[in-house]
Amino acid sequence: MEMTILGCSGSLAGPGNAASGYLLRMSDGEKILMDIGPGALARLQVHDAPGDVHMVFSHLHPDHCLDFPSLLVWQRYHPTDAATRRHTLLGPAITPVHLGRASADTLEDVDDFTDIFDMVPWNAPRGDAVVFPSPEYVGHRIGAARLYAAPAVHPTESYLIRVEDADGSSLVYSGDTAATDHLAALAAGADVLLCEATWGERDNGNNPPQMHMSGEEAGQAAAAAGVGTLILTHIPPWGDPEGALRGARRYFDGPVELAAPDMVVTPGR
Ligand SMILES: [Zn+2]
Ligand SMILES: [Zn+2]
Repeated sequence: MEMTILGCSGSLAGPGNAASGYLLRMSDGEKILMDIGPGALARLQVHDAPGDVHMVFSHLHPDHCLDFPSLLVWQRYHPTDAATRRHTLLGPAITPVHLGRASADTLEDVDDFTDIFDMVPWNAPRGDAVVFPSPEYVGHRIGAARLYAAPAVHPTESYLIRVEDADGSSLVYSGDTAATDHLAALAAGADVLLCEATWGERDNGNNPPQMHMSGEEAGQAAAAAGVGTLILTHIPPWGDPEGALRGARRYFDGPVELAAPDMVVTPGR
């Protein structure tokens, strides 16, 4: 698989950087968009045609989903690149109502977008322990790829996501989460861990709890999971990317990079 970063600015778009949006091109030709925050759809048009992408949501905070109503407009009405089949949408169970409202004409209305997307709520293990892989861990399919989710720690229904391509490559995306053992469990042996590091080097103690991770915590998760490469993302415009890098490198010996707009990543190569 190949990942193109459309935007990676944390919590909101920044100068020259859209909010969260990651385009995955899979080995069987399917295209999967992970999150579509403000500005991501504009960058998608630079890199690919938006008419034939599947959609995967980590959660529905505005910085991860607000370009979705515009993607619906593209896939419904584009004169030459409208959707020619229903795509898969994997997301929180609240997605049809939440994003249906965002796309509706009146307060009472909920736009039914099942003409474009086949909405499938994430099937994630409940309870304390995430063990991956395990026979009980039922994933989802998009084309030849398999996708798995685990609960994140964040104020709204949120998921950690693992994507496994048929070519054997694997990528885990933290979405937004506070530090959780689920992350290292889901990321076990993955080629790439795309992990948020909103708080910079370390949590300064003044941040809201149950919300985000630091570079140090991202490094700890990468080391515990034994991933190939760690990519730090979701750093806000006021954040401290260099601090996040420093913190992560303190705990993880492998390659650590900062996500950047238009960066192309090929897990497993
Ligand atoms: Zn966010
Ligand atoms: Zn969030």
